[in-house]
Amino acid sequence: MDINCTEKELFIFKKIAHAAEELGMDTYLIGGFVRDKIIGRDTKDADVVCVGDGIQLAKEVAKRFNPVPPVSVFKTYGTAHIKADDFDLEFVGARKESYKYHSRNPEVTPGTLENDQLRRDFTINALAISLNKSDYGKLVDPFGGLHDIEKKIIRTPLDPLQTFSDDPLRMMRAIRFATQLDFSIEEKTLQAIKDNAYRLSIISQERITDELNKIIASQKPSIGFDLLYQTGLLHIIFPQMVDLAGAEYKDGVGHKDNFYHTLQVIDNISERTNDPWIRWAAVLHDIGKPVTKKFEEGHGWTFHGHEVVGGKMVPKIFSKLKLPLNEKMRLVKKLVELHLRPISLSQEDITDSAIRRILFDAGEDFDALMMLCEADITSKNKYKVKKYIENFRLVRQRCEEVEEKDRIRAWQPPISGEMIMEIFGIPPSKPVGILKNAIKEAILDGEIDNNYDAAYDLMLQKAKQLGLAPKKSKI
Ligand code: ATP
Ligand code: MG
Repeated sequence: MDINCTEKELFIFKKIAHAAEELGMDTYLIGGFVRDKIIGRDTKDADVVCVGDGIQLAKEVAKRFNPVPPVSVFKTYGTAHIKADDFDLEFVGARKESYKYHSRNPEVTPGTLENDQLRRDFTINALAISLNKSDYGKLVDPFGGLHDIEKKIIRTPLDPLQTFSDDPLRMMRAIRFATQLDFSIEEKTLQAIKDNAYRLSIISQERITDELNKIIASQKPSIGFDLLYQTGLLHIIFPQMVDLAGAEYKDGVGHKDNFYHTLQVIDNISERTNDPWIRWAAVLHDIGKPVTKKFEEGHGWTFHGHEVVGGKMVPKIFSKLKLPLNEKMRLVKKLVELHLRPISLSQEDITDSAIRRILFDAGEDFDALMMLCEADITSKNKYKVKKYIENFRLVRQRCEEVEEKDRIRAWQPPISGEMIMEIFGIPPSKPVGILKNAIKEAILDGEIDNNYDAAYDLMLQKAKQLGLAPKKSKI
């Protein structure tokens, strides 16, 4: 074999080879599996292409395993899938494709291996390994894919303008592979992405976001975001992020380029966590800056309230990008809203009550918040960096002390909204929120003790000011 396979993989491939021989079909391993084996990346699945009916081959292969795995058939695509010994195999018949201008779904006719390699998006994805008796294990590389892997280049086998116009999703894939593999995109291919960027409009948001998430999950996501920006794709899929770019000057005073700052923060946080949502919080942490930007005489550039405005933008951006509108979105929103709090804490005298507040507001996401704040340090000034890191270390230490004493992170005030409604016999309404908040604030500020009786007395006082009297005694 021209690629290094495990014993288990070789065992499976032999079975495929025998099945194919019996059916008289030329058969090859193709695409991502071959590419990743050559690069030395982990592989978890393989695509198999045969000159003939892929579904028939899949059924013949399945029979050779004990127990026989089920064959999932996708008739419309002419593909079939089996899971053999925990290994995913996807079968397809070699095909020729022709595209219409308004759709990325081509007309498909049976073809040769070469036709099939020509329809692949990049030279590095068009490599095939023969499973045929005559040249078993031999690499079939008509477009120099091996050379491109060695030179770390993304390039299309055909004219890139046509390739990207046919299926504009390939532009996102090019940038995703460049990011995942740390490859560069060949000049003509890159230019063709710029020229075809507008064509992305025929691609569904789900597929675009899928690629964006893969970029964010990479080791160094900034590579992808920078390419998306340089090619103009980012302007189409995520204009709010483009608004962060550039540094404006007035009276000789400039501000930093918030786009490149954000990219640095994403890379920083990616060194610490693989959690996609904490990474998304890094992407969005300064998204409110362009809207809140002002030049104030004597002060220079300010972005007052950008964390609040940014937090409000999160649900809209999630909705547009078809990201889930669930507790993950709320986590991102919360981290964006709170991302300045630990900084302000480290500038003033750190009181117990300020610490209790941040612990309560961040709750179980306190560590994620501190991680974001630390990732947000991108100053080139070593002295400043040292100072910020030391301040955050102090904040963490103070938080640990207060948490040990007061157990605020998983804390809930002793009187809940439901209890307030029951005591005063009122429906969900503004006064319920006011009373609930008054109790919480008084406890966090240390004005009253953290127990039911103290909270009850305070609640009665506040309720009186609102003209409310209890319908029930203590519950
Ligand atoms: P990964 O699985 O890591 O995303 P992959 O290269 O295996 O990478 P898949 O989407 O699994 O990507 O596709 C398998 C193969 O199918 C690719 O290697 C490529 O040859 C081909 N392919 C996938 N999508 C396209 C496309 N939009 N245009 C052309 N060829 C494609
Ligand atoms: Mg794959």
